[in-house]
Amino acid sequence: MKSRKPAAYATLFPEEKRTLMDRHLHDAIPVARSPVETSIGASRVFVALIVQTALLLVTMRVADATGGLRSALPIWVWGPMDSLFHGIIAALIVWPMVRLSPRAGWRTLIVAGAVGSLIDIDHFIAAGSFSFDEAIALGCRPWTHSLTFAALCGLITWIIGREGRAGLIVMVALASHVIRDAAGGCTPWLFPLPLRGIPRWTYVVATLVLGWMVTLMAPRLARIDRGALE
Ligand SMILES: [Zn+2]
Repeated sequence: MKSRKPAAYATLFPEEKRTLMDRHLHDAIPVARSPVETSIGASRVFVALIVQTALLLVTMRVADATGGLRSALPIWVWGPMDSLFHGIIAALIVWPMVRLSPRAGWRTLIVAGAVGSLIDIDHFIAAGSFSFDEAIALGCRPWTHSLTFAALCGLITWIIGREGRAGLIVMVALASHVIRDAAGGCTPWLFPLPLRGIPRWTYVVATLVLGWMVTLMAPRLARIDRGALE
């Protein structure tokens, strides 16, 4: 049966070198984390929450400020820049996973950033054109700019990849994009319901809540990771 003891024990005492007494002691070690480990985990989560909140607020402020440049810059400059901010916000939302979970590497940030920005490809698909001008000339964003689509994609990723974490990353990355767009223009964010926008404060709060949700889930993912690695 798979051991659920701390990885450090297995490193220090490889199976083949353990005496009978070692194994007896090993089996006597409680699986639960000690109070010291628990408090360290809580403090790391708290720090991650503070840092994440600060970085998200600054990024959203800067991203909103660049919105004023929309008429001053060529669309092929402003469009990719706006997508970049979508990607950065998505990456910041999943960043605590990288900080707190052993198996979530930096690729997690790249995947979240890519998913959070590349969804804008649906503009070109809906317009049936590679032209930036035609892509943004749509009356309203396509239905794929919705929380419904975000949840659907998360579910499909979870089922196909058999990995709840991957489904969560895809869902929150897409959701963060939809929420930001919904505060900035016609977006069917709760398709098929006829809702087309949200107030700006809702976007700020909902983005922070997405980030906090991931941060608070990170310790549980970390515990699962430790179990899998041992
Ligand atoms: Zn968009």
